Amino acid sequence: MDDGETGPLHDGHGEMVPFAFLGPPYPFGVSPMKPAATMALAPFLSSLMLGAQTPAIHSPAAARMKREVAILAAPSMEGRGNGSKGLAQAADYVERYYRSMGIRTERQTYPYLKGVEVKEGKAYLGKGDSQQPLLQWGKDIEAYSFSGNGAFISKALVFAGYGVQTGAYNDFNGLDLTGKVVIIGRELPDIPAFAHLSAQDKSLRGRLRRFETARIGGLVLLEEGDAARSLKLNSELSTFRFPVLSMTAKALNSVCGDLPDRLKKIRETGTPQSQDFVWAPWSFMGLTLEMERKYADVPNLIATIPGHDPKLKAEVIVLGAHLDHLGRGERHSLGGAATSGQFHAGADDNASGTALLMELGRRLKSARPKRTILLVHFSGEEEGMLGSAHWVKHPTVPIESVKAMLNFDMVGRMDPKKPMLLLGGLGAPKAALEHAKSLAPAGLAIGGDLGAAAGSSDHLSFALAKIPTFFFFTGLHADYHKPSDTAEKINGAGMAMVASYARSVALDLANAAQEPAFDPETAKLPSGKGMGGVKVSFGVIPDYAEHSDGFHINGVMPGSPAEAAGLKAGDIIVMFGPRSVKTIYDYMDALAAASAGMSVTVKWLRDGRPMEGHAALKAR
Ligand SMILES: [Zn+2]
Repeated sequence: MDDGETGPLHDGHGEMVPFAFLGPPYPFGVSPMKPAATMALAPFLSSLMLGAQTPAIHSPAAARMKREVAILAAPSMEGRGNGSKGLAQAADYVERYYRSMGIRTERQTYPYLKGVEVKEGKAYLGKGDSQQPLLQWGKDIEAYSFSGNGAFISKALVFAGYGVQTGAYNDFNGLDLTGKVVIIGRELPDIPAFAHLSAQDKSLRGRLRRFETARIGGLVLLEEGDAARSLKLNSELSTFRFPVLSMTAKALNSVCGDLPDRLKKIRETGTPQSQDFVWAPWSFMGLTLEMERKYADVPNLIATIPGHDPKLKAEVIVLGAHLDHLGRGERHSLGGAATSGQFHAGADDNASGTALLMELGRRLKSARPKRTILLVHFSGEEEGMLGSAHWVKHPTVPIESVKAMLNFDMVGRMDPKKPMLLLGGLGAPKAALEHAKSLAPAGLAIGGDLGAAAGSSDHLSFALAKIPTFFFFTGLHADYHKPSDTAEKINGAGMAMVASYARSVALDLANAAQEPAFDPETAKLPSGKGMGGVKVSFGVIPDYAEHSDGFHINGVMPGSPAEAAGLKAGDIIVMFGPRSVKTIYDYMDALAAASAGMSVTVKWLRDGRPMEGHAALKAR
């Protein structure tokens, strides 16, 4: 097993210089080669490395990767939020590492919307004599982050239910929306009339997209509560040409009457209750809205291991891992209110994949592969695979030369008691996946049933571009997307196993005479079964190992319905509501068939003993 031990750890004088490749900007302001300073660091880093619950570090490779994880997950990296100083610092650090190895690097950047503000926001209802005082911005009305600007004195208001057209149901029937401000209910109810809508058409994105072609003056998403929704960055929706606003029904009541009652009638009768108010001289609105967007140029960092075969070196194998994480958890945190504002270290997600890629760079550099290998550190994964989608659209090598992609996302928390790695093969032929599994070293079990996680990371961008992918993942855990995902919990020995295995798979692909062809069958995400069809959250942490005696769980989310029902790590769910459960897919189906507020009886086995509990499901 080549673990590349002859690297820069030795300063050529036969003296071991610890932490030699801790490149600038050195964390905690310490520079290498000054043993005194690095020695001061040693107790801190060693306490990180030797946290009580991690297995003994078996090899220098394990120690190296644990050290890199500790540095990338350190407070100074500020949770590596997309577009943040912390992410830029992490990219600098990783780049200097490759350079210190003599590996060529390059960068590409793309604009990332990291902040949005309302520069000017003024609105009122009525017109002429019936013009009312200004609405209270931030309470009666607020803009959405993807809102366009708008300036008009008076535009007519029209109410269009939930903005849905499906089968016999049509909220737009008889309405002329041109130039008007359209009001729709924000939250789509789960009623029979809407049952045939696809997941895409049910989503907010899908519902809003349909207005892009209707030459409207503005769009209002109605809030039935006391306040408009606060302005929060939503980088998954690009900016609209017209204003998109959140307004309270209370604020609109004086000019449109009781709109919540109309929505209630739709929910009860399944029939549209739309209304064009153009005939009422007071049902108009005036608006001045100017949005201010702050963009950051965010990097993808690419390191190149050149191919050595005269012909095959023009072909490329991409190894990828995202570098970004959640910063202070402004979005996508599962830590709940208790942890908001705290740095999310992201040791497993995905400092582990980053450290593993760095380690592979070190090992593959001397392996003289036939095909070229690119090591790509993507940003923007947490915000919707922005970096990998950008790379696929603007590749640094011809996209047709990319023959396969290996993605490493969360490879640091292998269970030391049962060493297992999950290997997904989105778009890879089954035979190629089986072949890759056969390369596993003794003692490392390879599982393959990723369920909803199959397409949940950067490899999806490549599979969508018809490139076979291999996804390396050690599974979810209770610290996922929480500040508690910290470095001392990382299993270094497990990472060393994954690194050796990944090196074999990467070299096997880089040196193979024939590349696996893209397989559209395996590229299909488990539709309906995936999170696409699920509207509720139950709060269990799946155990992805293959089982057919029920759905095994690794834990429950604090405060979740699953916790309330009494479930614990290690339990095996066998019944969910009316449905019997044998696999993770049965569970996903049962969840997809459930709706918010529904009370379900769940049955499970704990150490072979049957147990049951009840829970009210929450909207996802
Ligand atoms: Zn991740």
